[in-house]
Amino acid sequence: MTDDRWIDLHTHSTASDGSFTPVELIRYAATKRLRALALTDHDCVDGVDEAAAEGARLGIEVIPAVELSADHPDGTMHILGFFVDRRNEGFGGRLRRLQEARRERNPKIVQKLQALGLKITYDEVVAASGGGQVGRPHFAKVLIQKGYVSSTPEAFERYLKKGAPGYVEKFRFSPQDAIAAIHEAGGVAVLAHPFTLFKEPSPLLEPLLDTLSETGLDGMEVIYSTYSEEQSRYYRELAGKYRLLPSGGSDFHGAHKPGIDLGVGLGKLHVPFELLESLRKKARGYGASAQTN
Ligand code: AMP
Ligand code: ZN
Ligand code: FE
Ligand code: FE
Repeated sequence: MTDDRWIDLHTHSTASDGSFTPVELIRYAATKRLRALALTDHDCVDGVDEAAAEGARLGIEVIPAVELSADHPDGTMHILGFFVDRRNEGFGGRLRRLQEARRERNPKIVQKLQALGLKITYDEVVAASGGGQVGRPHFAKVLIQKGYVSSTPEAFERYLKKGAPGYVEKFRFSPQDAIAAIHEAGGVAVLAHPFTLFKEPSPLLEPLLDTLSETGLDGMEVIYSTYSEEQSRYYRELAGKYRLLPSGGSDFHGAHKPGIDLGVGLGKLHVPFELLESLRKKARGYGASAQTN
């Protein structure tokens, strides 16, 4: 029997910088008739238990996952870990180190914004985060509320992105360490949105993929909300060339990324269930139970 439902392997909740709680996210996934969803919060797995419990009630498979930032000299490198054991102690310790780095960075961002003359306090940013981990989209939310900017992209452009006057560096793992941390927790490591690594097209991308693949990277996001058909084809080809499993997702953040909808991205996204099966098989090779819910 065929199942016509799709999946989404890149989503965020209020545990990091999404605007839906884990439970709301899964309920919303049910209205979209999604068959499976990976909760890929930045640097934390705090939302997974709640999401998995709701998924079990509604018949949606929830893949325990995470999105780690990794050091990269040019643009942004994010590595997704699927099927991570959220109770693995070593892995938990590594995530705590990243969370600590955020707590060090966030007040410094406030200071920089204040020095620019903006009236913003750390308490306001914490309130905007709703009690989960604080990230730059929460700063953006406060800047919008106060009328300093009119959108999240504008907040990043003017204040928050690398090179902008409110930017503050934070500790990141090397790509090798991020991949090793995910493997240690029994997960598969997948390079997210490769277009954020370099200004496209770049002659540096293929050598990097070659190195990462040698290092143990398992997959790459070849389906993504903002990809053109051409980009999707290009990344799928590269994934094949460097023996990376194809993955895909919307990168849904709710109200913090307006226009990007769960499961369907900008409207045309479709991620087939088969991709998940290949990733699961690989995870089993790392000793993950690859059991969810
Ligand atoms: P942080 O975890 O604090 O480094 O913030 C990362 C988050 O900021 C990610 O969820 C991104 O989606 C978001 N982000 C990064 N750059 C931009 C941008 N230029 N415009 C909008 N959102 C962005
Ligand atoms: Zn995010
Ligand atoms: Fe990302
Ligand atoms: Fe993301």
